Amino acid sequence: MTLREIIGQRRLTALLARAIERDSLPPTLLFAGPSGVGKWAVARATAQAVNCQARAATSDLAVDACGTCRACDRIARGVHVDVIMLEPDERASIKIDVVRDVLSRTSFRPFEGRKRVVLIREADTLETASQNALLKSLEEPPPGTMFILTTAVPGALLPTVRSRCMRLRFGRLTSAEVAAALMRDHGYSEAEAREAAPVADGSLGQALALIDNDVSMFRDLAMALLRHTAGRADSQSRVQGASALHTGGAKKERSREDVALVLRLMASMLRDLEAINAGADRAVIANPALLEELEALARAYSGDRARAAFGAVDRALTALERNAGTKVVTEWLAVQM
Ligand SMILES: [Zn+2]
Repeated sequence: MTLREIIGQRRLTALLARAIERDSLPPTLLFAGPSGVGKWAVARATAQAVNCQARAATSDLAVDACGTCRACDRIARGVHVDVIMLEPDERASIKIDVVRDVLSRTSFRPFEGRKRVVLIREADTLETASQNALLKSLEEPPPGTMFILTTAVPGALLPTVRSRCMRLRFGRLTSAEVAAALMRDHGYSEAEAREAAPVADGSLGQALALIDNDVSMFRDLAMALLRHTAGRADSQSRVQGASALHTGGAKKERSREDVALVLRLMASMLRDLEAINAGADRAVIANPALLEELEALARAYSGDRARAAFGAVDRALTALERNAGTKVVTEWLAVQM
């Protein structure tokens, strides 16, 4: 995938393209940001744009790879001798001997490319010894060599590694961008994309996980709270209704991530309720499998209620992101709904 084909992250791809065109790309880059937002794809596209034999400007990028020359093809297939990709092994770590082997290869000038590019995926999985082994090369990259590290948890890298890299921050994708990538790159239908994208928290990776895994339990929890709060006015009963949300089986507290997923599913259902009440075309409903249940609830969430409840869910999600407790947040939400 070339830089222009990346969905989302326009500001960063434009910045990278300008730097490549001026030959001012820093030799050590750290792509940091949530998982599933395109860091690895942009790293590979950067390696292509650097080494393409027929690169040219595009309508919105200063320069980009052609995507079809021998170099582009080899990089896309992962067999270009000068573009080395390091990924975590099955134990989710990058071992010192692998790193040493790569570093020994960087002591020669690039063989066929303009530049040797070492790409390290999930760099936080580099063992401490591996990180230490890299330090000298990051401090003073061998001539013609550059490094791109990607990670969702930059804080897990040694400060000495972090300080030697120029950091680019990747943001979350919009729901529309996630949907577009699901359809274009993963062959999902528009209906499937519309269902998964809004609850994927701006991450294509998370959207794919949602589609692959059965989230019906979480969907049921979200629907149950909507039903529970639909008719009940007293706070006591609402707070009780929230208990299934923060406490799972065997009285075990649910993880923050799971609770956040339930809330995002609930937000998506509230959007649907709003649409149903507004008489919108049923084709725009994000949860068509729940249409009957949603229609049954629509009257209870008429007027401004669905919108107000959506706002409350949004505030609850923000509170969770800021580490508020799941019990406090879900009980507060049940009262607000
Ligand atoms: Zn090319």
